[in-house]
Amino acid sequence: MQCFQEQLEPSSEFQSVEIRDDGLYSSTCNKGHTTLTVVQQQKFEILFEFGAMALLDGYPREAITSIAASLERFYEFYITVTCMKHNIELVNLEKTWKHVSAQSERQFGGYLFTYLVDHQGSEPPVIDNDKPNLLDTSRGNTKNWKEFRNAVVHKGYIPSVNDTLAYGNIVYHHLYDLIKDLKDRSGNFVQKATFHHIARAHEAANGKVVSTMILPTIINLEQKPLESLEKALDTLKCRHRHIMHM
Ligand SMILES: [Zn+2]
Repeated sequence: MQCFQEQLEPSSEFQSVEIRDDGLYSSTCNKGHTTLTVVQQQKFEILFEFGAMALLDGYPREAITSIAASLERFYEFYITVTCMKHNIELVNLEKTWKHVSAQSERQFGGYLFTYLVDHQGSEPPVIDNDKPNLLDTSRGNTKNWKEFRNAVVHKGYIPSVNDTLAYGNIVYHHLYDLIKDLKDRSGNFVQKATFHHIARAHEAANGKVVSTMILPTIINLEQKPLESLEKALDTLKCRHRHIMHM
């Protein structure tokens, strides 16, 4: 950002960094300007991308663990945005979250009831019992999403790439259905949550210039879904090819 302000053109320098849990990246250009870059994407967008990359790289087990983690973090985001909409102070939300932070089943319960309250009683969408159509498995022998996820995450089950795509599609569409619902009903508060996410960088900046970076992740609050996870993976493949050639 400082090079840009001084030379009126952006620096063409690139730095590769290790992905960080907090989404805050400090970097120094060859003129000695230090910038703190905050990635706008929420945790669930980054985690789903990890899952997609694992799948492209040939690790379906790791894809499912990341996709399942993405869904859990999305429910947290859903609860946060909906509480903001209902005038809950973030400090009170954080205090309450401590009681559920170690148990994903409690967090899922939080999603169910915030959805119920926000929709005046309509039943929340749930994928636990959803089954994909698998080519070489009968319906009776097909695991539902919850059984499949638990087998992979807790029992060391090694899924095929095809099965991973089939279950990944269930989560992909579920996430986008809920993103659409959140944006339609609570769009201003999705923006507020994004603003709050970025504002952390200004608190951590310590005098450094702050810049924001937007990643075109395949689960993305700013985008609409493609018709399938496979199509989304194609766009990710293209993006990687471009990065490799830079
Ligand atoms: Zn610079």
